[in-house]
Amino acid sequence: MLATAPTRAMTDLAVAKNIAKLEKRIRIASQNCGRDARQVTLLAVAKTKPAAAVREAAAAGVIDIGENYLQESLDKMAELSDLPLRWHFIGPLQSNKTRAVAEHFDWVHSVDRLKIARRLSEQRPQELPPLNLCLQVNISNEESKAGVGLDELPALAAEVARLPQLRLRGLMAIPAPSDDPAEQRAAFAALRHALEGLQASIDGLDTLSMGMSRDLEAAIAEGATMVRVGTDIFGPR
Ligand SMILES: *Cc1c(COP(=O)(O)O)cnc(C)c1O
Repeated sequence: MLATAPTRAMTDLAVAKNIAKLEKRIRIASQNCGRDARQVTLLAVAKTKPAAAVREAAAAGVIDIGENYLQESLDKMAELSDLPLRWHFIGPLQSNKTRAVAEHFDWVHSVDRLKIARRLSEQRPQELPPLNLCLQVNISNEESKAGVGLDELPALAAEVARLPQLRLRGLMAIPAPSDDPAEQRAAFAALRHALEGLQASIDGLDTLSMGMSRDLEAAIAEGATMVRVGTDIFGPR
């Protein structure tokens, strides 16, 4: 069971204040590149944080919650079932977890294999809307990293787009960490180009899930539609 006692206690006020600060960062980053900040969804990444912290984020207006660990997220969903939240699975996904993810989540951002996508489609309950899905791309070509390579992406996307209980929405990446804004932008631009390439042959692709606490400005400049922020909302893990 997930401990609900706050570990590194942040007060309610801190979460709300952090979200207000982030909304301002998103607004300024959007203005700086001529985008409408309403095109950028803030996804609050709550891994290792208690349900009470998510409740505070929800009170501050956040609807989209990102989670990496299955059991932990199911516990939080049960505790927060009174809230109209959208749950996004963003962590590594093995075959033995697909059924619970297909049954309980609204989005999955971390699919990089056809086998996992097929299972999610087969296991998505018929009475639910199709599961929204992003393919995770290994944009920095790191050998150890999760994600499909750019060379294999078009074939995978074409197959996944045909699966009945899934709705392929776009791409997700976690580039190699860098403090150099030019390097950050180059990685995010590569993901944008990859999405543009797929849009020529696949309908309904409207999502670039990219940008975290340290690099969301660069991601927004390159077209991010969802930024995934943990640390700058809930504090260090
Ligand atoms: C943890 C995590 C985040 C949030 O990272 P922060 O640096 O804490 O903002 C975003 N995306 C994924 C896939 C993560 O696992």
